[in-house]
Amino acid sequence: MKVARILLFLVLLSLITPLGGLQNGEKAGVIFQGFYWDVPEGWYGVLTDAAYDLSDIHGYSIDYIWFPPPSKGMSGSISMGYDPYDYYDLGQYDQKGSVETRFGTFNDLQRAIDAYHSYGIGVIGDIVLNHRGGGELEYNPNTGSESYTDFSGVASGKCLWNYDAFHPSSYAQNDAGTFGGFPDVCHTNDSVMNDLVDWGLWLRNAGFDGWRLDYVKGYYPWVAEEFKNSTGDPFCVAELWDRNVNLIEQWVYDAGSGIMVFDYPLYYTMRDVCMATDGDISSFISRDASFVAAHPELSVTFAANHDTDEIIDDKMLAYGFILTYEGMPCVWWKDYFDYGLDKGGAEEPLQEGNGIDKLIWVRGYLGGGAPEIEVLYGDKDILIYQETEHKGYVVVLNDSTEWKGNYIKTRFINENLECVAWSSTVDNSRPVSKRTDSMGGTDLWAPPRGYAVYAPEV
Ligand code: CA
Repeated sequence: MKVARILLFLVLLSLITPLGGLQNGEKAGVIFQGFYWDVPEGWYGVLTDAAYDLSDIHGYSIDYIWFPPPSKGMSGSISMGYDPYDYYDLGQYDQKGSVETRFGTFNDLQRAIDAYHSYGIGVIGDIVLNHRGGGELEYNPNTGSESYTDFSGVASGKCLWNYDAFHPSSYAQNDAGTFGGFPDVCHTNDSVMNDLVDWGLWLRNAGFDGWRLDYVKGYYPWVAEEFKNSTGDPFCVAELWDRNVNLIEQWVYDAGSGIMVFDYPLYYTMRDVCMATDGDISSFISRDASFVAAHPELSVTFAANHDTDEIIDDKMLAYGFILTYEGMPCVWWKDYFDYGLDKGGAEEPLQEGNGIDKLIWVRGYLGGGAPEIEVLYGDKDILIYQETEHKGYVVVLNDSTEWKGNYIKTRFINENLECVAWSSTVDNSRPVSKRTDSMGGTDLWAPPRGYAVYAPEV
């Protein structure tokens, strides 16, 4: 059964025309979250219009755009998609009050996907495997009462599940977690898991290039592993919403398959440092406060997302770190398009070296889209590291309220190091250039509550 499915997938894959044609910038090694809670209806049109901008940021492009959950939810056109009703209804069936999902019709989705593909940008689908919503009421012999678990009427005619697809099922009483009272999917029921994998393959064929797995705390790691492996082993990042580094390590070990995780420990650490003036900037790379510190190849780092937008002060300090450090950084829509952080925000007079755009250029041009980092110095107030494998740069992060610097030995010998990117909400003047000696030594500084990125003159 499984082999047949994989063969079918390979056949389908071979029918897809290669990406490209219009490809813009080189990849910067960046993901972009393409939505926030309660986006306006018809969002796919907005996403389509943003594709060009995100393909050419000082000549560099994002690698992936993360789309909202595509399936029709139980609340129809007002649902954000985290309550999937008909998995195969991506806005082409008239049910739950509308043909379109909140984001548009299936054709609108196709246009949005095509827009990103035309620039060589991959599209990540947001996949809700834990629960399902909007079923009809039926008698449930497993509970002896009635439950909303009858999905025999979905318009697509696919995944026509009943009570035994959910916990308590005759296959299992429960699993790792439930969400908000929704019927909790029982993946140990083979026909359910097969249905979900078939749906994933169908989504790949519809143009999705990878997965963001919603709420993986709600099910066992093997479910994530099987879904990824059986859908062509694409890029995959899990939402494991927990600050505990050890718990996340255990999960990625159990799931195997190289599934990445959002670095919630780092998110909370950055929040605490950005929202106080007595924090410890070196905790960004502390192994008990940051997943990326020990597992960069499995970390998707972020400063905000649709659920968590708590870094109000000095958020560019967080972006200054994640966009120059290891791991795969994810930029959030609102920060970029609504809060003005693409250019550095509005608090201080803006300069060309400020903002997310310039940091994406740093990552792409100077860091090769995959920076390798060596830490040079760290204390409570400043953290200094350099990129070692590409053109390279040196970063100074400073969470104190005054200018701070330190003497360090860099990889650059007898070179003028120019500050190419920086930001501070206290003093946004450009840090001065420095010359390294024959040992690569010099003193490098960052403005208060900000960062500075230095590189040889280009
Ligand atoms: Ca569950």
